[in-house]
Amino acid sequence: MNRRFNPVFAGLPTTIFTVMSGLATQHGAINLGQGFPDDAGPEDVRAKAAEALMNGSNQYPPMQGIPALREAVAEHYRRFHAVDLDWTNEVIVTSGATEALAAAIMGLLAPGDEAVLLEPAYDSYAPQVRSVGGVPRFVRLEPPRWPITAEALEQVTTPRTRIVVFNNPLNPAARVYGPEELQVLADWCRRHDVIAVCDEVWEHLAFDGRAHTPLIALEGMRERCVKIGSAGKIFSLTGWKVGWICAAPELLAVIAKVHQFLTFTTPPNLQAAAAYGLGKADSYFLEMRAMYARSRDRLARGLTQEGFAVILSEGTYFLNVDLAASGLNIDDESFCRRAVVEAGVAAIPVSAFYERDPVRNVVRLCFAKKDSTIDAGIERLAKARRMM
Ligand code: PMP
Ligand code: GLN
Repeated sequence: MNRRFNPVFAGLPTTIFTVMSGLATQHGAINLGQGFPDDAGPEDVRAKAAEALMNGSNQYPPMQGIPALREAVAEHYRRFHAVDLDWTNEVIVTSGATEALAAAIMGLLAPGDEAVLLEPAYDSYAPQVRSVGGVPRFVRLEPPRWPITAEALEQVTTPRTRIVVFNNPLNPAARVYGPEELQVLADWCRRHDVIAVCDEVWEHLAFDGRAHTPLIALEGMRERCVKIGSAGKIFSLTGWKVGWICAAPELLAVIAKVHQFLTFTTPPNLQAAAAYGLGKADSYFLEMRAMYARSRDRLARGLTQEGFAVILSEGTYFLNVDLAASGLNIDDESFCRRAVVEAGVAAIPVSAFYERDPVRNVVRLCFAKKDSTIDAGIERLAKARRMM
């Protein structure tokens, strides 16, 4: 039997999200691991998808995405960020941000080209880079503030550096990068002629009045950013897998050629519903933020009362705890394994997002849950803490 598989994938473990959700099911645990809300999501957006499924076309939509959604994406970013995009040649629809990332990386990197990845890095980036013969170069970010510096970027820069993958707000760190660090990154991109693949799926989840600024809005970055978004995150419907890519026509043209052979299209009814949703009033987006900020505060308050050292969460669905600062002498992976098996609560070890010199004392918890789920999670984490 021929067992010469692609070594990039054959050697990979199953993603930590699947592993932890599997353990959560197996042990009947409260799942604060994989990031997904435990409610049904906005009814009007789901109704729109149902209506489009029954009354609209269910045949292949256009390869670039339905015009209504591409127009809605352009209009959405004009409204929220004053970014001016021509929907006819600067926006395409993908099957989730995951496909968007794959298409961008495959389209932009040639074998031997280098991609700068900031760790902790979402776990699909490095394998996608390697699958096209690209070479990841890692910048290590550290808690509690996870700062990005020009020095760290310069250290990994070579003449082969082609792209940086920049996730802002940053999962799993829950950091929202503001003007100073964005400027550091933009200056470095321009200095070394680097394209930024901007994974901005958490764009609407920035808390406490923080504004998300897309890197593409900075001076000189309009032509060198590939901006990626996801309806799954914006509408709390993570299973939908409707994403999009915004970029200057020259960049988008090559990325679209990858997309046409990865998935070609995305279910048309979900596209129609995402288009409807992006047009919702500002109040929808503000209320969603406020709701998740309340959940974050509830989890933070409960954990603090139980003696956990909580790291500030500026955005995303996630809150991190520092085990060492909580007085726990255990690494994140062991903590998470024991917590799910022995205390009935699943979390994500942040070391899973590092290849080089992992931070091993931070555990990620998802607060996009009902109050009752959060409260039960706190109780079980307190139990886990007492056991260790
Ligand atoms: N990038 C990041 C940083 C994410 O957190 C996620 C999903 N949680 C994705 C990409 C994937 O998004 P999608 O589900 O739209 O593929
Ligand atoms: N992005 C989600 C998280 O960070 C999980 C996505 C997945 O399961 N692939 O939890």
